[in-house]
Amino acid sequence: MEKIIEIKHLNKSFGNHEVLKDINFSVNKGEVVCIIGSSGSGKSTLLRCINLLEVPSGGEIIYKGENILDDNHDICLYRKNLGMVFQQFNLFNNHDVLGNCMVGQRKVLNRSKEEAENISMKYLKVVDMDKYINAKPKQLSGGQKQRVAIARSLSMEPDVILFDEPTSALDPEMVGEVLKVMNELAKTGLTMIIVTHEMEFAKDVADRIVFMDKGVIAEEGTPDKIFNNPSKERTREFLRRVI
Ligand code: ADP
Ligand code: MG
Repeated sequence: MEKIIEIKHLNKSFGNHEVLKDINFSVNKGEVVCIIGSSGSGKSTLLRCINLLEVPSGGEIIYKGENILDDNHDICLYRKNLGMVFQQFNLFNNHDVLGNCMVGQRKVLNRSKEEAENISMKYLKVVDMDKYINAKPKQLSGGQKQRVAIARSLSMEPDVILFDEPTSALDPEMVGEVLKVMNELAKTGLTMIIVTHEMEFAKDVADRIVFMDKGVIAEEGTPDKIFNNPSKERTREFLRRVI
């Protein structure tokens, strides 16, 4: 199986606070990995290290056979191939829906206006937001904003998309529409790393579950193993609290 990203012995400290300790894991092409764990266990920091929003303190991130943390490595290609969807959407408020999907394609990928527009429309249809191309973010509901953020990320056609609690900022009635879109994407073979507190969704969508606890990967395995037959007491204890 083709590995998209492989992480070896990754560490991250803020001052003398060690937030990630010797993280090892990899993601295969087409795989959906859900990361679960208590608040403060290091899930967001791990995603932010993977896409270099944070600089890891040590370890390796292997992409296409090269360690992108090597001093002389050109990280531009790597970053173009990673998408990110945030809890707080992070849409550009001054752009309309179509503009939000086009900016990165024009500036980072140098696509023509026509091409960027066509690709944006394709992915806005996927998330069922193609009727709203001229709306500004402030006119949209949270669920609609997040679906636009997903379309924006898809429009860059990255190798993998990282999702950091994409439904945590939503009113409960809007969670379902976003999870439905993500479920459909998972079936298309998109490679996804998803931090989530939605356990039913994780069970349903994930090929593999990674359970983080206090800065380490405490246990990983198939949804069946993690949810029905976890081998570590701390996994059982976490699941007792959240399910
Ligand atoms: P999670 O996403 O699992 O809730 P985080 O990765 O956000 O956890 O945080 C893990 C730990 O790292 C927490 O103790 C948090 O306070 C700390 N942390 C996160 N970001 C920073 C930062 N920029 N500076 C200092 N500490 C941070
Ligand atoms: Mg977090």
